[in-house]
Amino acid sequence: MEYRHDVLIVGLGPAGSSLAYLLSGTGLNVAGIDMVDWEKVWGKPCGDAIGEHHFDETGIPKPSGKEVKQRVDGILIFSPSEEYFYRVMGPGYIIDRNELGKRLIKESMDRGVEIFLKTRARKPVIENGKLVGVEAVTQSGGKSLFKAKVVVDATGNTMSLRLKLPKEWPVNEPLKPVDANIAYREIREMDYDIDEPDYIRIYVNQEIAPGGYWWFFPESKTSANIGLGVQGGRGHPNPMLIFKEKLDKRGGINHYKKIYDASGSIVPTRRPANTLVWNNFIGIGDNAFTVNPVHGGGMGYAMFAAYNASIAIKDAFEKGDFSAKGLWYTNIGYMRSLGAKQASLDIFRMFLQMMGNDDIEFGLKNKIMREKDMYETSVTGDLKADLSILDKLSIVLKTLGRPSLLMKLRIVGKYMSQAKEIYYRYPESPEGLSAWVNEVEQLYSKFKSELNINW
Ligand SMILES: Cc1cc2nc3c(=O)[nH]c(=O)nc-3n(C[C@H](O)[C@H](O)[C@H](O)COP(=O)(O)OP(=O)(O)OC[C@H]3O[C@@H](n4cnc5c(N)ncnc54)[C@H](O)[C@@H]3O)c2cc1C
Repeated sequence: MEYRHDVLIVGLGPAGSSLAYLLSGTGLNVAGIDMVDWEKVWGKPCGDAIGEHHFDETGIPKPSGKEVKQRVDGILIFSPSEEYFYRVMGPGYIIDRNELGKRLIKESMDRGVEIFLKTRARKPVIENGKLVGVEAVTQSGGKSLFKAKVVVDATGNTMSLRLKLPKEWPVNEPLKPVDANIAYREIREMDYDIDEPDYIRIYVNQEIAPGGYWWFFPESKTSANIGLGVQGGRGHPNPMLIFKEKLDKRGGINHYKKIYDASGSIVPTRRPANTLVWNNFIGIGDNAFTVNPVHGGGMGYAMFAAYNASIAIKDAFEKGDFSAKGLWYTNIGYMRSLGAKQASLDIFRMFLQMMGNDDIEFGLKNKIMREKDMYETSVTGDLKADLSILDKLSIVLKTLGRPSLLMKLRIVGKYMSQAKEIYYRYPESPEGLSAWVNEVEQLYSKFKSELNINW
């Protein structure tokens, strides 16, 4: 079979189905394909937590009814000893991903998007050096050719199209294992009532979750999503083994009646890919690394990437220009806002990954950042607040005898604001990309060498 559409979206997880929704009813002839069937839509294992503000920022309808497993009022962040914690307020949800995903896709279909499930993209089709579509197979083995003026890779960390594009296209950018977390989680029905189910819990402890954290996210008064992520590429043990050997020995975790689901996957934890677009191509979501590097939350970031892609695509069709330049707004809209925050948090992520439990304990005990500022930073990424806090804290840190931590924090603060500033200057057009990438790479390698990070 051969199909022709204006836009082909490959992968209908949070990124792809948000884009399908945002392009539906615009008059464009849009198709979405996914290799899974309805009951597996949005099926990637996840902590299922998402901040409410992501819906406000993108126009994606908020979850309601059975799409919401639990309303969230905030996050408790525990120190390694668990003696100290931050209570960071911020409304959000634990969602039923499958229910929300199905609704978005069905509403897109109602407004004209053609959906093909159980259809796996095998490779991009390139004719005369130009991306013209995708070759796909159905579950029964039938081959299809989907042709489109714009092809969107939203296949998550399988990166099914991006990495099969010509090597000289700058979108072909692999993910280094050290820039990802390997994560595992179980959804359990507990045999006790969970205290404060409207607070999700994050435990920072390098001995349990090296280069990541472990979490306990209540899904109701009696059930929870419990998991951990560890940094890849550094020889850390498999998170499933850590779960069994360390977490499952804890009272609050091994008191359960039933395990509903147990699975794991990879999540990118770095700055965004250098460019989300090239000629006739857009990549959004995990495959373009649009994820918060510190907490690994990617659903809201995928939605925001889709939102910017939808603006760029509508504009490209008005102008009839599907080149990198025609689709470039995807980059400008993303990089100069959430991308800049991601870039600065990537610096912070590397710093956290090199910290020992002692320093983390010290930071959380002494409230190096105030709870209010922590929420502000996580929503706006505004680093000026952080730097002013560092200034106020310098005397405290000196008196408390942590001069090396103070010095490192100053370096981190400096590079975080520089990273953000470079992303705010994301080039106006593709011609400026390679000089800009050089600048970014130099900044990160200087930071790593100043802090002796050798991975
Ligand atoms: C254990 C764990 C916990 C996490 N917790 C959170 C959390 O609490 N909050 C949060 O916001 N984020 C969390 N994340 C990250 C989040 O899950 C991802 O960032 C998010 O799902 C990315 O959405 P996506 O649409 O880019 O990719 P995906 O959700 O991976 O969707 C990709 C889609 O593409 C389809 N696909 C893949 N290859 C092909 C192909 N060749 N042809 C056709 N279809 C294809 C897949 O079937 C899938 O439907 C977590 C990740 C992990 C691993």
